Parts: sequence; structure tokens; C-alpha cells
Amino acid sequence: MYSQQGTGASFSSAPDSICHGKAPHGVFGAGVEKTSVVSYHGESTVPLPVRIGKVLLWAASWTVTVWWFTLWFRMPSTEGRAFRKTVQDELNYSTFWSKAATNYTMYAAPVIALAIFALLFLELEERYPERRCPSAKQPMLVRLYRAIWTQPILVKTPIGVVTIIDIVIIGMVLVCTCWIWGRLTVRQFAAIDAAKPKKGVPKWALKWDKLSDTLGKALPFTIGCLFMPVARGSPILRLIDVPFEQAVKYHRWMGYLTVLLVVVHGATYGVYAGAIHKIELLIEWPYYGTSNLAGTISCVAAMIMGATSIPYFRSRHFNTFFSMHQLYIVFFAFYVFHVDFSEVGGAFGPIFLFFIDRFLRMVQSRRQVRGVSARILPSGLVELKIPKQTGFKYNTLSFLYINFPGLSRLQWHPFSTASSPLNDDNNVSVIIKPLGDWTNALYSSVAAKDANDVKVKGCPFAVKVHAEGPYGHETNYFLRYKNLILVAGGAGVTPFLAIMTDLLKRHQLQQDNLPTNVQLIWCVRRRTELATLRTIRPNHIHPNYAYPEANKLTLNVKAYVTGQAKTAGQAELPMVEMPGLETTQKGVETYRGMSVINSYHNLWMIALICASMTGFVLMSGLFYTYVSAQRLQPKGHHFSTAVESILYFISLFVGIVICGGTVIFFWISSLSESGSGASAIANGHGQDIEENDDVTLLDNCIITEGSRPQFQDIFKEVAEKHDGEDVGVLVCGPESLQESVAAACRSRNFGNLMRTPFHYHSVSFDL
Ligand SMILES: Cc1cc2nc3c(=O)[nH]c(=O)nc-3n(C[C@H](O)[C@H](O)[C@H](O)COP(=O)(O)OP(=O)(O)OC[C@H]3O[C@@H](n4cnc5c(N)ncnc54)[C@H](O)[C@@H]3O)c2cc1C
Repeated sequence: MYSQQGTGASFSSAPDSICHGKAPHGVFGAGVEKTSVVSYHGESTVPLPVRIGKVLLWAASWTVTVWWFTLWFRMPSTEGRAFRKTVQDELNYSTFWSKAATNYTMYAAPVIALAIFALLFLELEERYPERRCPSAKQPMLVRLYRAIWTQPILVKTPIGVVTIIDIVIIGMVLVCTCWIWGRLTVRQFAAIDAAKPKKGVPKWALKWDKLSDTLGKALPFTIGCLFMPVARGSPILRLIDVPFEQAVKYHRWMGYLTVLLVVVHGATYGVYAGAIHKIELLIEWPYYGTSNLAGTISCVAAMIMGATSIPYFRSRHFNTFFSMHQLYIVFFAFYVFHVDFSEVGGAFGPIFLFFIDRFLRMVQSRRQVRGVSARILPSGLVELKIPKQTGFKYNTLSFLYINFPGLSRLQWHPFSTASSPLNDDNNVSVIIKPLGDWTNALYSSVAAKDANDVKVKGCPFAVKVHAEGPYGHETNYFLRYKNLILVAGGAGVTPFLAIMTDLLKRHQLQQDNLPTNVQLIWCVRRRTELATLRTIRPNHIHPNYAYPEANKLTLNVKAYVTGQAKTAGQAELPMVEMPGLETTQKGVETYRGMSVINSYHNLWMIALICASMTGFVLMSGLFYTYVSAQRLQPKGHHFSTAVESILYFISLFVGIVICGGTVIFFWISSLSESGSGASAIANGHGQDIEENDDVTLLDNCIITEGSRPQFQDIFKEVAEKHDGEDVGVLVCGPESLQESVAAACRSRNFGNLMRTPFHYHSVSFDL
């Protein structure tokens, strides 16, 4: 499908997060919808202590982040080493945790603290939401700051559209990596030059050895940065509102950097081993100390993952890419065997958060969802409605992972939610375009069922459905703009259907400061695809939509049918549609919603992280004190490094699975089962497409056939009409479409940034 990850992260400034109108709720917030609309109106009533608390938490989060980066920057310098020595002396070798304590305290503890601060902040945000001022009402400097962050700088590059925020993030990681490696290398080389030559080992060979060593010392930093964005529900990503599909792009870049370092690290050591005629060093696994064989295995795993991740391979063989990526376990395990667990401390914080996230996902996805409704829309797309458990939260731009064991036990596919979280029903819906093997198999299994047959026999899939998520943006950032241009290609319209439904709903609820001018530009290959627009009936959602005096919202839809002859005009041309089909799990008596056990429950998450961390520290400390500390005994008895690493894995398991699992057990026990899936599905939005004759979005759609949209012209028109106002541009579609939109935004902003800025955001369908 789309071959490029989108860009344009939406950085939310802390005290200015979107108002979901969320009501305060009970302990651990299990039972309240995130998007209830109770308190949207009026000025913010957030108590002063809470505001101060939010500011302090925000400040603490930034302080910890800056501190973490500073530590890495200072690590190779003389002062950095002196500081490390001080910390080490304070913690002392005789402590419970020995030498591991230094790295874990210096590098891992700040990341864990950051995650906890982030979760506390997000919890306060949820309980005491503040109204978000629309862009137009904000000071020029704030508007400018936002426009600059989202500004596309490079457009047609091998890595796609690159915004300023992308450059800052990747620049920081690159500079820090080069600094650590460069500084250490210079010092090591100087030491070699100053020392007397070793017998039988030329100085140049020693330098290759040290080069390998210093590359290895930079690795914990890049490995930490590699794992940081890949935890799907990461509190840190949620704090800065970088959605997972966006973060994957950073993960990919960090991945390439890490693989490069790993390979060069191994290769330079290989040169050294060759130079001293001891190539067997590469497969050495000593009883105590660095295991080169483990390093070689880890390196091979990294190379396989790197090679199968290149876009060409990934887009053609996604399943192979995904399977090969499971080698991260091998990479990590043998990395620990290679360096000893105390050295992993530098990367441990992000890795630990990743494993917690992985465990939570596993728990959530094991739950079987019952009561799924599936139908084929007249456009040929499949719509699924999945009941959700009470307390399940999601955002307008969220996405879910879905698995049908009947189609494939291993494949989990991501789909954007097409429903608004403000809908009264108890479902989440997704719209799926049949594209490849899995989606076509899903289509066939729905289409093959005769609706009546299904009503008698029950579930159309004959098996269960599992769902995981939601993931995606923390905030509904699109609410910030009075003017919105939504540009979609093919199935990329799904998130925008959710946005339009959501806006209609919000206008019906008469919320303040909402977008009022929304234009959807949709490029499709075939005209029949446009029938998807019939799923939205503005009058149905917002009864006053047709009355200008009672409705402020304007929705304009322009469709470009690129695969057909050149004619332009209204939607009066005949539409060849498929007959709609609907299959609901009528045979299912107990409805079981999608699990609420996910990373959006901040207090439970804090409990989970704290319990897991405590379990890990206690277990590894006990192992150290009573087992591996043997090696410090005067007789010099060394405990095997490999066994020490195994004890470390056991500690991780005990921490996350046993201690963290206990928290999850109490979490699950505190939940009550929702039984409303059946009625919710029967009353769901869009259920009555065929019977209802309300005006749909398709009826007011302007269709142009045979040509593509001219974004420069469209943007110019919008800029003239809404002079002096901010325009939010969201794009979801193939790489070429994203590039055209990014280029148009960039050229519009050139010289106009201070007046009518176009804020570029992309919603990516490419992981
Ligand atoms: C965040 C996100 C939201 C999405 N929302 C929608 C949506 O609302 N509606 C819709 O029709 N499609 C959506 N997609 C795309 C959808 O996930 C793919 O079309 C689907 O997974 C294709 O699977 P396939 O086996 O049928 O096709 P294939 O021919 O096997 O794959 C086509 C392409 O889809 C991608 N893909 C395949 N399998 C996966 C997977 N397991 N995980 C991630 N990507 C995969 C790969 O880039 C691949 O090149 C979304 C994708 C993402 C990442």
C-alpha cells in the first residue's frame, strides 16, 4: 500500500491540551468515557493547585529529558567520567545491586521517572481538562511556533517528507551518537599513541580494537532511542503527542543507525582479530567476561532485521518483515550475553517500558471480542463494528489492531477508527478496503455469507475476533483549526470520515471553538469508491445541519476520480454500486466488548510500572547478593557471566510478568462486564444506509473525473477566503499525494507564514 511513513508530528504544548470535556472520575478512572461532553462549555474551572501541579509535572518531565540527554553528552568527557565515579562511589560496590546500580540509576531511572511524570500529567489532563484556545485566538508567536514545527522542509527525499520536528529529533540522536563515539575514540587513540608499543600487536591494530570498543559504548544510547518510539502506548509518546504510526518512522531511522553501528562495531573488531591473527576471537564465549560469539549472533539478528526492513522489501513482503522483526528478542538476549547486564543499564529504561507495553498488549489481545457486526458497503469496502467494554477510551484519530484467527492466527492488521468517540452507541467501527491477501480474505468471508444464512447460523467468521488498542494521537489536534483541509487518497479517507462525524456531533452539542470550514479532497481510482461517503448523513447526526442560522459548520467534499474519463460536474452520473450486505453475529448471546486493559489508564499504568520495576530491582538484587556476588570473594571465584545474564532475564520476567501481572489481575478484577453490545450494534451510526433517504455527504460532493487536484490553486483559494486565519491540512494517502500536499503547504507558507499559515499533518497508513 502506501510506501512511506507520513511526517508532521503534532507537538502539543502542555498546558494547552485539547479539551475532551472529560468529567472527573473515580479511582483509576476505569469507568468513564474520555470524551464525555459534560464540561466543555464555559471558561476553564481547573483549580489553581491542579494547574500548578500540571506545570510542575510538565517542567519535571522536560528537566528529566534534558538531564538524560546531558548525561549521555557528558558521558565521554572528563567531567562526565568524574561524575559517574562520584555516583558509583555513592552507590558503592558493596550495595545490594553492585556495579549495575550506577548505570541503572543514572540512565534507566530518569526514563522510568519521565514515564511516571507523563502519566501523572496525562491523568490530571484527563480529570481537569483545560479548554484549548483555537489557533486564531492565540498570540502570533504561538501560532508561528506551531506552524514552524509542522512545516515540511524537505519533500521528495528517499525518506519521504521531512518536517522541522523530524530534523530536530534525528539531529539530536545523530549528534549525540557521533559525540559519544568521536570523543571516546579521540581519547583512546591518544592513549594508544602515548603508550609504548605492545609486543606483537601493531598500534594500528590496537586502534581498530578501540574503534570497535567505542562504537560499542555508543550502542546503549542508540538502542535506548530505538526502543523508545516502538512501545505502542508509550506514556512518553503520549505526553508529546507523537502517535505510534508517526513514531515508527523514528524507530526506523534509529534502527538503521543502530544496525550500522552494530555492523561496523563487529567489522572493526574483525579487522583487529585478523590483524593479530586470532580470528577465532570472534566466536569466543568465555566463562566470565565479554562473549564475542553472543555479540556475533546479536549482530547477525540485527542485520537480518535491518535488511528485511528496507522499504522495498517491507512493502512487498510485510509478513516476512514482521516475522523477521521478532528476532529483536534474539538481538536483545545475545546483546545482554555479550556485554553483561550491568552495561545494558544505559538502554534499560526504554527497553523496560517496551516490555511492559508488550506484556499489556498480550493481555489485552487475548480477550475474545464477541458481537461483531460486519457488512460490505455499497462501495465494496468492509465495515466492522466492534463492541467495546465499558470505560474503553479512544480518540477520533485512533487506530486498532485487529486479528481474525480464522483468517490467520498471527496477522494483526491496523485500521483507523471510522466512528466518533462521541457516538452514543457502544461500538467502535472500522472501514477496510480489500487490498491484499488478508483484507481480500476478510472481504470474501463476509461476502460469502448470505445475510439470512448468517442470521440462522451465527458468526460470519465462525471464529473469534481479537482487537488491540487504541493507538494514535493523544489529542484531537484538528480541533485547533477553524479551517481544515482534509486530503485523502483511497482508503485514506477513513480517519477523515471519523473527523467529519466527530465535528458534526460536536456542533450538534454546540461545543465552542470548533472548526467551521472543512473541505475534504478525496482522490479515488474508481467512482464506485465514492459510495463510502453515503455512510455519513449530516442531518442524521446534527439535525440542524441544513439550517444556516443554527449551524456554523460547512462541509465541502470534492472528489477526484483519477482512473476515469475527463468530465466534471455534480454527482448526477450513475453510480455502479455493489449491493450492501450485512452479517451480524446474531447467534451470539453474550456480547463481549474490546478490552479496556490498555495503556490509556494512567493510574493503573503507574501501578504497573512501579510494581514491575520493584519486582525487577528486588529480584536482580537478591540474585546478585546471594548468587553472583560470589565472584567478589577473595578467592577470586568468578561466577559465569552467561548465568548472570540468565538470572537477569529471570528478574525481568518476575518483575513484569509476576509483579506487573498481579497489578493487571487486580485491574481486571476491578472491571465490570459491559452487556450492551447487541443494542449498540443495532442502533449504530450508519446502520440504516439502505433504508434511510437523508441527504448524505455524497449528494453534495463535487466530482471531477480524469484529473488530479491542483493543491496550489485550492490552497490559494482557501487563503484568500480565510485571510489571517490558520489552516490545518491533514493528509492520508500514498507517498506521492503526501509529497504534493507537503510541497503546496511549503510554498504557500513561504512568505505567508505570519499571516495565513498552513499547518501540515499527515496520518500515516504505513508502519
Ligand atoms: C495506522 C494505520 C491505519 C490504517 N487504517 C486503515 C483503514 O482505516 N482502512 C484500510 O482499509 N486500511 C487501513 N490501513 C492499511 C491496512 O492496515 C492495510 O491495508 C492492510 O494491513 C493490508 O493487509 P493485506 O494483507 O490485505 O495486504 P498486503 O498486500 O499484504 O499489504 C499491503 C500493504 O499493507 C501494509 N501491511 C500489510 N500488513 C500489515 C500489517 N499487519 N500491519 C501494518 N501494515 C501492514 C504493508 O505496507 C503492505 O505493503 C491502515 C494502516 C495503518 C498503519
